[in-house]
Amino acid sequence: MSDDILSTLNLRHVINTSGTMTGLGASIVGQNAIQSVAGILGQFVEIDDLQRRASKTISELTGAEAGFITASCSAGITLSIAALMTGNDLGAIERLPDHANAKCNVIMQMGHMVNYGAPVDQAVRLSGAKVVPIGQATSASAFHLESAINENTLAALYVVSHHTVEYGQIPFKTFAAVAKKHNVPVIVDAASEYDLTGFIRDGADIALYSGHKFLGGPTSGIVAGRKDIVRNIYLQNRGIGRGMKVGKEGIAGAIAAMEAWKTRDHAAIRAREKQALDLWFETLDGRPGVAVRITPDPTHNPLDRLRIDIDSQAAHITAWDLVDRLASGTQPIVARDHEVEHGYFFLDPCNLQPGQEQIVAQRLGEELDAAQKSNDIIATPFEERSLKKERAILNWPD
Ligand SMILES: *Cc1c(COP(=O)(O)O)cnc(C)c1O
Repeated sequence: MSDDILSTLNLRHVINTSGTMTGLGASIVGQNAIQSVAGILGQFVEIDDLQRRASKTISELTGAEAGFITASCSAGITLSIAALMTGNDLGAIERLPDHANAKCNVIMQMGHMVNYGAPVDQAVRLSGAKVVPIGQATSASAFHLESAINENTLAALYVVSHHTVEYGQIPFKTFAAVAKKHNVPVIVDAASEYDLTGFIRDGADIALYSGHKFLGGPTSGIVAGRKDIVRNIYLQNRGIGRGMKVGKEGIAGAIAAMEAWKTRDHAAIRAREKQALDLWFETLDGRPGVAVRITPDPTHNPLDRLRIDIDSQAAHITAWDLVDRLASGTQPIVARDHEVEHGYFFLDPCNLQPGQEQIVAQRLGEELDAAQKSNDIIATPFEERSLKKERAILNWPD
């Protein structure tokens, strides 16, 4: 595969063992999608017809009545809520985010109020709606939802993500059943989920997915659900959706990625991922201060990762210093480190190019060997690392 573009732009070649991260360019776009994007870029197309075609594929894949493609899953959240506020009133659509609706409350569990690169509640508020959190961070029950619903309730939003609190939340079926009983539309943010049918089947009025995560499409968001609501979400393109515009290439690429998903050889992909996990396991198992285990995905996607626990006294390095060393140099390896302050991180095999698993194994071995030989324990205070990262963000483009 040609990676000339990175050299042309003088950019580093990253090995992604982190996951589908916006900051790393999301995912490797599949050949079908690349060809569709290339095929449509040089032509005019009637966008409403292209979106009608997308609707057909989305229905086939999700079981929903209708759908369309927008800029991102995050855009899908904002536009879905906007549609419930405006209905098909074109004037109201142009006025958003200004509105005079008392009925503008969106219920969310406190433990679902996560940040996927931006706060999920902000995606709701962008439409002019308000967020009403229910329960506490680690505890929400059906009664919290039932008791929060009133005449000002516009929608209930459910987030499926490894970022959410992983216990003590209302199961989706219960959440949907309670909302349904009170005629409250249910929107599901399922950005990163493989399960394209379950949420619609189990009572979601709208389910939202990212086109650029597991589907391997270009940056895009998939809106699927009840036709009357989807139609009103589509109308938001005449209002606040304009700034969340997807181009013909995004729509055509997402259609191709969804079509390819229907025939993707999941077993072969898993086998390849397992090979990488096994190699890393063997490389690390038995090293001083290093404990490894293969762990399943927390939201039950059919995907395993390697969890690496580091005892810094025995390994002579902290987990985060190891992560930072892997990410330095001419070919950075980016690990999945959102919980690294606990002394562990993950390696995700789902975005590797062929052969990269070997480089990862080699670099892990080198860094751990170097740490073993060091007389001092390599231990940057964690607070210092956090502050340094924050300063770097504020310093861009320098
Ligand atoms: C990635 C993610 C998003 C954002 O998706 P985009 O398509 O990148 O906007 C929203 N919610 C969850 C749970 C995510 O994982």
